[in-house]
Amino acid sequence: MVVMKFGGTSVQDHIWIDKALDIAESQLDRAPVLVSSAMGKTTDKILALIDLAESGRLEESVPDFEALKQIHLQAAYSFLSGENLKRCEESLNELFTEFIAFLKGLSLLRECSARSRDALLSFGERLSTIIITRRALERGIDAELLDSRKFMITDENFNSAAPLMDRTEKAIQLMIKPEKGKLFVAQGFIASTESGVTTTLGRGGSDYSAAIIGAALGAEEIQIWTDVNGIMSSDPRAVQGVKTIESISYREAGELAYFGAKVVHPATIQPAVKDRIPVLVKNTGEPGHKGTTIEHSMHGTGLKAIAFKKGITLINISSTKMLNAYGFLSRIFGIFEKYKTPVDLISTSEVSVSITIENRENLDSILEELNVFSTTSVDHDSSIICLVGQDLWKDSRFISRVFGLLEDTPVRMISLGSSDINLSLVVPQKNCDQTIQALHDAFLA
Ligand code: ADP
Ligand code: ASP
Ligand code: MG
Repeated sequence: MVVMKFGGTSVQDHIWIDKALDIAESQLDRAPVLVSSAMGKTTDKILALIDLAESGRLEESVPDFEALKQIHLQAAYSFLSGENLKRCEESLNELFTEFIAFLKGLSLLRECSARSRDALLSFGERLSTIIITRRALERGIDAELLDSRKFMITDENFNSAAPLMDRTEKAIQLMIKPEKGKLFVAQGFIASTESGVTTTLGRGGSDYSAAIIGAALGAEEIQIWTDVNGIMSSDPRAVQGVKTIESISYREAGELAYFGAKVVHPATIQPAVKDRIPVLVKNTGEPGHKGTTIEHSMHGTGLKAIAFKKGITLINISSTKMLNAYGFLSRIFGIFEKYKTPVDLISTSEVSVSITIENRENLDSILEELNVFSTTSVDHDSSIICLVGQDLWKDSRFISRVFGLLEDTPVRMISLGSSDINLSLVVPQKNCDQTIQALHDAFLA
């Protein structure tokens, strides 16, 4: 069997939904399970509606709510007829009635708990999959809509819930029986707790859903269908002259995803790695293009791709007490752990430690605690540029060329990942775009 996941752009309107279904239909003999995101930017739009409702401006949200409703209904009107249209319209209207009731509740309470947010976010994927399944039936495909919340079971960490793997795997095996000639349709991103309360897996989480379903069902392949020709040598929206990477290892793809190449969700890689299932990243708009295969083994050495993350905060921590002292680092990390703030990069010297974080929510408290035993300085507006490829730093010519190119860039921190597949640089955000382009031109064009 195969799992095929379609991202938001790939199901943004009736034309794209048909493209997605062309792809699914051509692989019906591979017993496919189709996992879909919400249509287009629906998740962002729901978040914006929540913000308005939460601040008591429900009135202002009416036009946006209506527009969201119309996008879904229009798709249905464009390619459904008769009983399929009637049933689809009924289901969509039912969900929109429920949705508006939730929004009204929020605006009365003037607050949205993480739990309510997940309930509202789940509508995006529930709506898109209703339309997709109805259209598949209209096209004469034997299709069945599943409710992912019945088998994707998570903890109660709303907004970014972690699947309980054993339970989830068993439930998937029990509830999904892939068969040739039949198309199962499931929602990405959404799940539920053991007691049945709706959760979500975090932004971009549909890739993760696809990988979990694929691993549980022993898929021969997991296909991630998106809006670009696979994983490219850098973000096509930021860098000119990017090229598709034909084949990349799980580890390299994981590093890229973690450091900002949002084309695949970092966690996606995990369930697929475990069972060595190849993951294909392909373009729904150009299905004939080979795209990228993510495989277990590494192919070739040298730089493969450049990812980046903006909006990074760099914290420099120094203390003479660090000299010959043990326990210093664990004390520092204890503080970050206490405030649930993930650290992306770290580099240490005899008397100082530099750390980058993305989430600044608890920065003041973190600094207060660090300042008890050290001196800190903070650089906001930093960005991480991450060079990914095998054996990068074993090649001294590569390193010297990189630093030659960076002559005029104020590099704030360098981190050679112990994984030996990543070399990360922290530069001021204003230098980020031009630095990536220069590195890409020099090594990957
Ligand atoms: P989907 O909605 O299909 O999940 P995403 O928006 O999550 O799609 O991811 C696809 C986008 O990722 C592309 O449109 C592209 O702009 C961006 N992207 C960032 N880095 C890369 C990269 N190295 N290769 C390909 N796409 C990238
Ligand atoms: N719809 C969700 C999001 O936009 C999940 C996904 O598309 O992967 O984050
Ligand atoms: Mg995505």
